Amino acid sequence: MECISCGKKVEAEGGWVEFPCPQCGKVKILRCEKCKKIVNEYVCPSCGFRGP
Ligand SMILES: [Zn+2]
Ligand SMILES: [Zn+2]
Repeated sequence: MECISCGKKVEAEGGWVEFPCPQCGKVKILRCEKCKKIVNEYVCPSCGFRGP
């Protein structure tokens, strides 16, 4: 399990979030605490949706 924005492994970390892509719902978006905090952009690998 890796953060979709920075690729960091999140298993050992706390504070990360997982949610389905807001546009297609097919892909689980996983973000680490840091990327959540700095509102790092992510791109859905399935539909290309970009979001903070
Ligand atoms: Zn990250
Ligand atoms: Zn999507």
